[in-house]
Formats: sequence, C-alpha cells, structure tokens
Amino acid sequence: MSQDCEVIVVGGGPVGVMALALLGHAGVRAVGIEREPEMWRQARAVHFDGETVRSFQAMGLGEELSARVKPMCDYRMENEAGETLVSHATGQMGPQGWHSEVLFHQPEVDGLLRAEVARLADVELRLGTTLLDIEQGDDSVRCTVRTLEGTTRTLTARWVIACDGGTSTVRRTLGVSGENLGTDDPWLVVDGHLRGTAGIEGDMVFLGRHTRPALWIRLPGDRVRMEFKVLPGDDPEEIGTPEGIARLSRGVLTPQNFEPDRSVIYTFRARLATSWRVGNVFLAGDAAHLAPPLFGQGLCAGLRDVANLVWKLRLVSRGRAPESLLDTYESERRDHARYWVEQAATMAGLVQTTDPAMAARRDAHIRANPADSYPPAPALGPGVHTGPADPHGGRLSMQPMLPDGTRLDDLVGRRFLLAATPELQAGLPDAVREALAEEPEVAVLTSPQHVGQLLTSVEAPAVLVRPDRYVLGTAHTPEQLEAMLRLLPLAGALEPRRETSAPRQETTARH
Ligand SMILES: Cc1cc2nc3c(=O)[nH]c(=O)nc-3n(C[C@H](O)[C@H](O)[C@H](O)COP(=O)(O)OP(=O)(O)OC[C@H]3O[C@@H](n4cnc5c(N)ncnc54)[C@H](O)[C@@H]3O)c2cc1C
Repeated sequence: MSQDCEVIVVGGGPVGVMALALLGHAGVRAVGIEREPEMWRQARAVHFDGETVRSFQAMGLGEELSARVKPMCDYRMENEAGETLVSHATGQMGPQGWHSEVLFHQPEVDGLLRAEVARLADVELRLGTTLLDIEQGDDSVRCTVRTLEGTTRTLTARWVIACDGGTSTVRRTLGVSGENLGTDDPWLVVDGHLRGTAGIEGDMVFLGRHTRPALWIRLPGDRVRMEFKVLPGDDPEEIGTPEGIARLSRGVLTPQNFEPDRSVIYTFRARLATSWRVGNVFLAGDAAHLAPPLFGQGLCAGLRDVANLVWKLRLVSRGRAPESLLDTYESERRDHARYWVEQAATMAGLVQTTDPAMAARRDAHIRANPADSYPPAPALGPGVHTGPADPHGGRLSMQPMLPDGTRLDDLVGRRFLLAATPELQAGLPDAVREALAEEPEVAVLTSPQHVGQLLTSVEAPAVLVRPDRYVLGTAHTPEQLEAMLRLLPLAGALEPRRETSAPRQETTARH
C-alpha cells in the first residue's frame, strides 16, 4: 500500500512537535495532526533540565532556547514555620554543557518548536485535524481524521507516534491500560505578572505548609506562578477569583503587586501506560506517563521519549538497523519514566500532607536526608547498552565545552560517538579501524582536547555514546572495545565497505 508519509505524529503539544522537528532533522517524512486550530497559549510546564536543553542543541536550537529561558538559581523547601528544610544552589552550568535547571514560559518554547517544524522540508503540522480512529495492517497504520471543515479522510504511514496527551485517543483505541502509581490531587495553578517585589525570595520554593501546601516559581521577565493544593472545604469557583488568590497567597503576593492572567484547577496524577508499543504505534509523552509536577520532569520525560525513538526510527527507515531495534524504545524508556513518576508521587505525598503529625515526621526525615529531595537521574531500562554490568552503560553522558567555545555534540551531530585514547584505538584490528573510519553513522574522536573530560567522567579509555547522548558502554582493553562495537545496532558497521546507494540528503542543524 502506498503511504502518505513514514510517520504520523498524533498531537501537536510540545512532545508531538518535538518529535516532528527531530524527524525533520533526521530526514524522515512525517505529518503531525493537532485537533486545536491554534497553539494553546496556556503554560503548564515551566522547568527543563540540562538534558532537555541539550536535545534542543541537537537541532541547532540551544542558543535560541537559552534566550527564552532563565537559569533556576535556587531551589528550597520550607515548612509551616518558615524553616528552610533543604536548599540547593542550582544556577551553575552543569555536565550537559548548559544550565542544569532552567525556567520558561511554555508558549515561547512551543512557538520555537513550531517555527522549526515550519522551516523543515520533510515534516508538516496540520492544525484543526482530529484523529478519530486508528487501524493497523501488517506494515502500515491507517488513521481516520476529521478536519476543521468536517471532512473525514484517511492518512497512512509506516509508523504512528501517539503524543496526544493524558486522555490519549490512541491509547484508548488500542485498549492500553494505565498503572496507577499515586493519588489524584487537585491543585489550583495561578499564573500572572509581578508588579514590584514579592514577599518571598527564590526561584522555586515548595511551601510545605500543612495548612495549605503551595509552590512558588519565579519565571522569566515579570512572570510568576503559584500553585496551591485544593482542600476539602474549598469552593472551587471562589479560590480562583482575585479575592481567593489574594487570600491564598497572603504574605507572598498582594492585589497591588500581582496581576493574575490565569487560574485553573489541575488534578495531579501518577500513571504509566502498561504498553508503549502496539504493532507500529508508539505512545510518548503524557500519553505514556503522567507525573505530579514536583520535579518538573513530566515534559522532560516526554521529550526524552521522542529523542530515544527518533534516532531508532531513522536507522530502521534507512535500512541500517533491524526492525527489532524499535522494541528497545519501550524497554529502555518505560523503566526510566517509571522512576520519575514514582519519585514525583512520593515527593507529592510528602509535600502536600495536611496532617500536622505527618508534616513533622516529614520535616525530620528531610533534615536528616536532604538528598531525597533531589533524586539522581536513573539509567535506561534494558536495551542498546551494556548496563547494569557497566555502571556507565545506559546513563546520560556529559558534554564538554571545546577549546574553541563550541560543544562536543556540535562536532558529533546525530552520529554515534566513539571517544577513545589514541593508544586504545590503535589496539583495534586494522580491518575494524578502517571500517569505522568509513562508517558515516559513527564519529571517532581521540584528541584529548575533544574527549579528555568525557573519558575522565566515565573513568575509562574508551566510551561509545549513542545519538541520544546515552552511553552505550565503556571499554578498558582493545578486546573489550571491539566486543562493545559489535553491539552497535548498525548493519555491517564493522565490515569492509561495499558501494551503497547515496544516502538521502539530511537537513543540517543550524549551529
Ligand atoms: C501545572 C503543571 C505544571 C507542570 N510543570 C512541568 C514542568 O515544570 N516541567 C515538565 O517537564 N513538565 C511539567 N508538567 C507536565 C507537562 O506539562 C506535560 O508533561 C506536557 O505538557 C505533556 O506534553 P504532551 O505533548 O505529551 O501532551 P499535551 O501537551 O497534553 O499535548 C497533547 C496534544 O494532543 C492533542 N490531541 C489530543 N487528542 C487528539 C486527537 N484525537 N487528535 C489530534 N490531536 C489531539 C491536544 O489538543 C494537545 O495539543 C506540568 C504539568 C502541569 C499540569
């Protein structure tokens, strides 16, 4: 059957549009459909980690994103008495080559991604187009869609990425259920503009008050956000009025220094879809996982999903990798996302308790275990890497700055990276070295100026890094290095090269 494109992306939220932009950069033809005719102007996410900023860099958008965000310079948690239970200085440049935590106004980031999709030749986003139904054949997926004018038509593709949010039509249509990993808790989210000085300092402050758990966030420009747990006696209509907001934010904001432009009640949930791949359909973003926004990881996790999936789709689409590579999307990403959902659900339980005795126990626990409020990033689940036997396999690599002021990924592009000392690389059999030198999907770098810091960070003389910047593995001897290279999911990567047809032209990232 002839197909309209290789990939249909359902949902034009941030995860769907990121998927389209990454596919466009990879030269994979894709169509996105979004039921709303215009971009949603309301913010939900406010925080990215350094890994996420690095994934924008992969498309040449790192600097443009940085111009729209502000580094999150401090983070702390207070209790009812105003005592600081824990605080972290977070404003420094981190191991990803960017600030480790940044804050933003989501419509500006969504706009940046949409503009990138509009610029790219191989992808398009069709607005006002709603997915109604989805059917799978042996090697294609057929989507029935309705346009804004009410016309029904079908679109076919080899693969579908469902980024259609927490209420995902695709997930429901495929009969995929969700695991519930926490409680459902309504919170009032208030966004607006600060006109003067607030009665609180800091960029992100959890107010662990058992009388009214709340969160304060200072966004770029004059924007601020506050979130308040909705309590059983609250009138949901009244708490969102200017009077209600003034009452809840007393001591922090006043009607004179704060101009709200939105208030809405969200229910924070902790859910994980039981399957992320059904045939040729993949779930990503909120369609696959929902986390209370305590560590600001919901959208970060969704963007990680599509960064993981798109390099694999690209290699399979070009015939360089077997179809089975796509199974590693779920095995790698589901465990990783589960960790953040569980961490956020646990933290939500601690932060939002309204029981004074439990709040006192929480305070004692956090004073004694401050690191629990800032959990380390997990490793990927089983897949294309050597973990857990290798402590670095399946973990995110660091990105050094280079002497000329650029960053390592700028040199590597979307390829795998073999970073090694010259001595270890020289120990490989000649045939393997020659094959690698001609392999367009692998960059080989041995200069200490380029990869010295990276090798130090993994305490090994060789490391293989994947296109999504996760470590495939580390090696200490030429034999280990050759065995590790054989794990590359690239047909014929270590064979002598035969003449092949010219690869399709790819869109080059702007650097
Ligand atoms: C208050 C709050 C604060 C948050 N803070 C953070 C944070 O700081 N950091 C962070 O990383 N995350 C945060 N999150 C989570 C983050 O907002 C979500 O994880 C993220 O928006 C999910 O993006 P998505 O693209 O997967 O889904 P969505 O943004 O929900 O997009 C789904 C899209 O699919 C479209 N769609 C749905 N059904 C169809 C259909 N049948 N046909 C066509 N289109 C369809 C919808 O119109 C929508 O545009 C927060 C969430 C909340 C509620």
